Amino acid sequence: MTATVLDGRALAKTLREELRAEIQQLVGAYGVTPALAVVQVAGDPASERYVRTIRKSCDDTGIAFVERVLPADATQAALESAVRELSDDARVSGVLLQMPLPKGLDANRVIARLDSRKDVDGVHPTNAGLLAQGQPCLVPNTPAGGMELLRRNRIVLAGKRAVVVGRSVVVGKPMALLLLQENATVTIAHSRTPNLAAVVLEAEIVVAAAGRAGLITGAMLRPGAVVVDFGINVTETGAVVGDVDFASAVEVAGAITPVPGGTGPVTNVMLLRNVLQAARSQQF
Ligand code: NDP
Repeated sequence: MTATVLDGRALAKTLREELRAEIQQLVGAYGVTPALAVVQVAGDPASERYVRTIRKSCDDTGIAFVERVLPADATQAALESAVRELSDDARVSGVLLQMPLPKGLDANRVIARLDSRKDVDGVHPTNAGLLAQGQPCLVPNTPAGGMELLRRNRIVLAGKRAVVVGRSVVVGKPMALLLLQENATVTIAHSRTPNLAAVVLEAEIVVAAAGRAGLITGAMLRPGAVVVDFGINVTETGAVVGDVDFASAVEVAGAITPVPGGTGPVTNVMLLRNVLQAARSQQF
């Protein structure tokens, strides 16, 4: 069997077009332009590249973009007050704290200063709690994108056995909760899970979010399984690969997201969608 490849780039394009139209409608009907503020501590080139991508996506979809760059030696207090100030600004719909922060700065304390209605990354404890309760909230972008890929490709989740490999607050755990909300039977595996191969073999839906290149191979998959690969790993040769060994997995899976070109491009649009959702929730 050769799996259907779930094309994240094509989906991201469609989602951006839909979003552009929704934003135009909001601006036209209510004169409200959604605005995203990004707070960043200078000095991390990968972070700076990502922020440029966000700015471009905002320009492209009609979202106003505000950037607040703090010096590399910024204090905890300065960072917290920058977030608080933007959070209190009525013109700002959503605030994103760009990670990772330099050593010595406590991200959780900064996030706690954020109005949870403006938490477009879905990392505030209020949003995490609402998600755990299955209530409407701002959902972390990466798992939201994975779910959108599954939904738009009409993958049935109800009653299916799903395994999520990874339990981080931004990817693994929320993905498991979202799958549970769709009535999948969910197992979360992590670095202390013995015999990962046997656990993965049980699954009809396999989600990889471990950050380990080639952790999941075709031999570990149940034939026909749907595989969502969130992993982004850079090999010694500079190639970007997922957590799933694509070459062997594509021969066994029923459907699979590639890396690059799978979950990554959709994640970015989900951030913009959260900005629109946040703008609406503050307006109405
Ligand atoms: P973290 O490092 O925070 O979490 C990794 C998780 O994987 C942990 O729960 C860890 O277990 C588990 N893990 C690590 N090694 C193994 C192993 N050998 N077997 C089983 N489980 C293991 O990473 P993130 O959640 O932030 O990111 C995961 C991946 O997703 C990364 O590659 C990251 O680059 C990528 N990513 C992709 C995005 C996208 O848009 N596609 C966006 C954000 C991240 P334990 O808890 O026990 O330590």
